[in-house]
Amino acid sequence: MSKKSKKKGAFIIEREYIDDQRIIEPEHLKLEEVDMSGRWGVLVLPRTIEEFNHSLYEEIKNHPRGRNIHKCWQCGNCTAACPVAEENPLFNPRYFIHIVKMGYKLELEKFKDYIYLCGSCGRCSEVCPKGVDPSGVMEAIGTVLRRYKL
Ligand code: SF4
Ligand code: SF4
Repeated sequence: MSKKSKKKGAFIIEREYIDDQRIIEPEHLKLEEVDMSGRWGVLVLPRTIEEFNHSLYEEIKNHPRGRNIHKCWQCGNCTAACPVAEENPLFNPRYFIHIVKMGYKLELEKFKDYIYLCGSCGRCSEVCPKGVDPSGVMEAIGTVLRRYKL
């Protein structure tokens, strides 16, 4: 009973960024006598992104505190050290930097209310191995979002 009510793909890292309809988790699946039901047979359908907005990235890079965003190599140290992310998994500085770099403006809009949760404590910048200053990048993202009136 409790198994059934569990969210599909609940075990996937950063699951909250995948829309429910893109996750296929078979209730009953056997392949060559091997039981692949449930999590063993999970399939995540690719998402299609048709709109890219690289001006957003340029604007953030031109912001005095966002200028090192290009150095990010997506290690996730910032998110691991962030007290806000610990409380709220939808707040993820590593992911926000990724979507800005890729130009996923619509995805950024989707998470805009979370982006403003940053408390500017600077812990992420202390642990960033690439000198990105993710705390500064968060400030820059907020400034640009306000400029776009998002
Ligand atoms: S500055 Fe913002 S993103 Fe960085 S650790 Fe603090 S709350 Fe998290
Ligand atoms: S710690 Fe630095 S390099 Fe690693 S994901 Fe965060 S911003 Fe990028």
